[in-house]
Amino acid sequence: MAIATVNPATGETLTTFEALDEQELERRLQLAEATFRTYRTTSFADRARLLNRAADLLDEDREDVARTMTTEMGKPLAQARAEAAKCAKAMRWYAEHAESLLADEVPAERDVKDSGGSRALVRCRPLGPVLAVMPWNFPLWQVMRFAAPALMAGNVGLLKHASNVPRTALWLEDLLRRAGFPEGCFQTLLVGSGAIDAILRDDRVKAATLTGSEPAGRAVAATAGEMIKKTVLELGGSDPFVVMPSADLDRAAETAVTARVQNNGQSCIAAKRFIVHADVYDAFVERFVAGMAALTVGDPMAEGTDVGPLASEQGRADLEELVDDARRGGADVLCGGERPDRPGWWYPPTVLAGITREMRIHREEAFGPVATLYRAGDLDEAVLIANDSPFGLSSNVWTRQEAEVERFVRDLEAGGVFVNGMTASHPAFPFGGVKRSGYGRELAGQGIREFCNITTVWHG
Ligand code: NDP
Repeated sequence: MAIATVNPATGETLTTFEALDEQELERRLQLAEATFRTYRTTSFADRARLLNRAADLLDEDREDVARTMTTEMGKPLAQARAEAAKCAKAMRWYAEHAESLLADEVPAERDVKDSGGSRALVRCRPLGPVLAVMPWNFPLWQVMRFAAPALMAGNVGLLKHASNVPRTALWLEDLLRRAGFPEGCFQTLLVGSGAIDAILRDDRVKAATLTGSEPAGRAVAATAGEMIKKTVLELGGSDPFVVMPSADLDRAAETAVTARVQNNGQSCIAAKRFIVHADVYDAFVERFVAGMAALTVGDPMAEGTDVGPLASEQGRADLEELVDDARRGGADVLCGGERPDRPGWWYPPTVLAGITREMRIHREEAFGPVATLYRAGDLDEAVLIANDSPFGLSSNVWTRQEAEVERFVRDLEAGGVFVNGMTASHPAFPFGGVKRSGYGRELAGQGIREFCNITTVWHG
């Protein structure tokens, strides 16, 4: 794929970029390694000062970077601004908390004695240069939720961003440099995905994190496995959104619409499968379909737009194939389902009912504003449908019955259970999935420790 900024609202190619040549790549890898040697010895206070400064600069430049993101991948401008603000918040959160999250742990005296030692502690030390392979859907956030904890832990970052968001990728490198991070602490590598295998095999690269599709995750994990390097994978999701009879249906339906179409429907944690108890199915569906059909689809730069174009022509083609496959299999199209005749990669909010296990959309991720509906006779059936997916990222349940909440928390195969609300990430909560949604966790204390050498220090 060419490294280029293509406006998805028009299909127009705005800028193309040359990939780094081998010499430049080598120079950058050397720089990462050399920088790590000194950066790892800096104090938490120094790192926090730089990260807070970067957060201030990000706030100052919010409008500019939001426009860059919208130009490159088509999300509504208001959502791009919110993404930038969320990044600044996460940066400040890690600047404040990293030191305590990584503080030495002291085992119980009894256990130290039992080991035959006089004292012991567990210290989190940085690993080295970490490769981050990142997607275009939240082009700032996905990177920052890796970079903020990694930099606070004393690691340095090498970013291989998606080929369709090069301007955002270069902007990020520049932001951290302007904030005062030593050159080499965070570098953007403008390379295609074909270059990743060799970079990951390089001894100077100690670990990798990838957010994106299953094939990309599998490729990176296979190489990393061969090289015995740690990875964190955050892959696709097809999150269930379960509505039980006691739910507040108005709120549930309104939230369901937002949860499905956020980021033009291209979010791993978007609710995608709506599983509704038979007693409230008709009432929920009426509200939900009305909400989906009423969305304003249009220019993502315009205030008031709810849904912009999909990020790429291929992404739209993939989504369209899933809908067409379901239609051929007998699904009912309750709204949307036909692409408009205009330049750019548009697809309307769409709701499908009558989904069967044979349809591809039942087991594949619909990365766009397409919702599927399921009718469940009771809680057990709702759980069965929810878990009948290769993915297990997060889940949403709507009920006012505490006993039902406990059942969902016990039984749903997912890395999150959000009750009476939609899944959202927050720096204080771990984020990640099970099954083919990946492994490892980002954010919170769990996230910052993923790329640490957790070291036992023992005294005889
Ligand atoms: P990809 O997984 O292809 O892209 C994500 C990142 O991985 C990009 O930086 C990409 O680089 C890189 N990459 C792709 N293939 C490889 C590889 N073999 N080895 C190393 N790196 C690789 O996502 P797409 O943009 O193609 O989207 C396809 C589907 O992936 C979506 O429809 C959705 O289902 C899922 N997805 C999930 C996301 C999430 O948030 N979990 C985010 C994005 C996509 P390059 O751009 O140069 O190809």
